[in-house]
Amino acid sequence: PGALRIRDLRVRYAPDATWALDGLDLDVAPGEKVAVVGPSGSGKSTLAAVLFRFLDPDAGTVEIGGTSLTSVAADAARTVVSGVPQHPHLFTGSVRANLLLARPDATDEALWDVLRRVRLDGDVAAMPGGLDADVGEHGERLSGGMRQRLALGRALLTDATLLVLDEPTAHLDPDTRDAVLADLLDAAGERAVLLVTHDLERLDRMDTVHVVVDGRVVQRGRPADLLARD
Ligand code: ADP
Ligand code: ADP
Repeated sequence: PGALRIRDLRVRYAPDATWALDGLDLDVAPGEKVAVVGPSGSGKSTLAAVLFRFLDPDAGTVEIGGTSLTSVAADAARTVVSGVPQHPHLFTGSVRANLLLARPDATDEALWDVLRRVRLDGDVAAMPGGLDADVGEHGERLSGGMRQRLALGRALLTDATLLVLDEPTAHLDPDTRDAVLADLLDAAGERAVLLVTHDLERLDRMDTVHVVVDGRVVQRGRPADLLARD
């Protein structure tokens, strides 16, 4: 089975509202690195929210590795789809506690290893207490980029075969976006990635780009082919 298979996905925020997702179809193969792009309001965040289980679709099917997303408990879903929501606010307690949410039995060695992979090891080592440093309410003691790296580290500790990254570089200054995105993709390794972004400048590392307009995929292809057209 594919890493992700979405058919005829429909979501609206109120019974009389227009469809935020209006029959969206999308496939991600195992290990494939996919970007979902589109103008503001096209439904990208809504798609990410469905995958993060923040909201339930009104219709359609979402399968992860052949299993229906809605048939697994929300906690279990975090182990199949794990990622970096645009505003990751699930941060309380120490760096270690935040990482252990993903894998309670992880050793400190494994935690430092994952911090290295997301290039947060130096920052954490510099914080008083290291792994025991308190990140503050909603991670207020971390910068936006550090929060996103910590959220990714947590995702990497799971067994997830699909990583969903919702605007993972949104909080970063333009100069560092390329490097961080490259890091994220490297850290993802063999896992499939679905990157939600409005940033058309940094797609050359992706295998496939899906263009979403008004809640539907209107175009898909390799980045070079799509970008050459307009
Ligand atoms: P994008 O992420 O591409 O900017 P969104 O998924 O945020 O698009 O929005 C898709 C549509 O759903 C838009 O019409 C938007 O106004 C609407 N929408 C998004 N979030 C909400 C919400 N929480 N309540 C009501 N409407 C929403
Ligand atoms: P609430 O804060 O209302 O309990 P949720 O239980 O839906 O909301 O999620 C809590 C927080 O967990 C979210 O704000 C989100 O940042 C984080 N979260 C949920 N699922 C994931 C995931 N798959 N990967 C990373 N963070 C997640």
